[in-house]
Amino acid sequence: MKIYINGSFHSKADAKISVYDHGFLYGDGVFEGIRAYGGRVFRLKEHVDRLFKSAHTIMLSIPMSREAMAEAVVATVRENGLKDAYIRLIITRGIGRLGLNPFTCGTPQVIIIADKIVLYPKAFYQKGLGVVTVPTQRNLGEAVNPRIKSLNYLNNIMAKIEAINAGVYEAIMLNSHGFISECTGDNIFIVSDGRLLTPALYMGVLEGITRDEVMALAARDGIEVRETTLTRHDVFNADECFLTGTAAEIIPVVKVDGRLIGDGKPGPVTRRLMEDFRELVRREGVPV
Ligand code: PMP
Repeated sequence: MKIYINGSFHSKADAKISVYDHGFLYGDGVFEGIRAYGGRVFRLKEHVDRLFKSAHTIMLSIPMSREAMAEAVVATVRENGLKDAYIRLIITRGIGRLGLNPFTCGTPQVIIIADKIVLYPKAFYQKGLGVVTVPTQRNLGEAVNPRIKSLNYLNNIMAKIEAINAGVYEAIMLNSHGFISECTGDNIFIVSDGRLLTPALYMGVLEGITRDEVMALAARDGIEVRETTLTRHDVFNADECFLTGTAAEIIPVVKVDGRLIGDGKPGPVTRRLMEDFRELVRREGVPV
């Protein structure tokens, strides 16, 4: 495996970052998870744009243009001879002194890994996942805004631990008002009375690229889509529920906090969107 670091490729064993890098010391940095399907990188521009927005908000100046970043992603997939890949693009603050001040740091480090990822066992894509709501809340918008895809994932890791302790693979996180926000690495949707509903961005969620795609696919299928406020009660009584994310893709949810969702099987809207999505990723993307 060849890993891109600041313009050159290194073997996995030699791909190293300084222990004085503030990405390591403080989780000071931003990242993206991107997929390639059949030799095409899906929604590359959208991912690079989101990366630059995250970086802008944390006042991290990425030392290359958006175009060069997109080219570096494609080059890394090509260098590894991959057709289907999960790409992790990481920008750290760079090497600095001990102490929080990010402006002591040198040049931000650009790291690109092209590998594979399996988030949930394959069988759950057929039969659906069980999930739980957990005590750890999604970050406040006024703290580390969930819109920033930062290297600070400890909050979500706490929620993931709570899910695993409860015997399931995924957690639904609530915001500080008790409304549904999202899962530890996925957005959440429900189908209710034929409408597709998902928490609005102001509920404290990442603006998922898969989320955007799914909303567009549903609209194209003639389904009414709403970004709104959802409670646990809404989810328990939904006809269908599913999660979306680059790594997760679309995965049905059939049980939440012990309550069956609908008839406890992946529903027709979920299955249709899964099919639509599969077709979309086969068709579109930047060639490697
Ligand atoms: N929410 C969180 C917290 C995430 O980390 C991610 C991506 N890993 C998502 C949602 C899904 O976003 P996307 O569809 O852009 O991968």
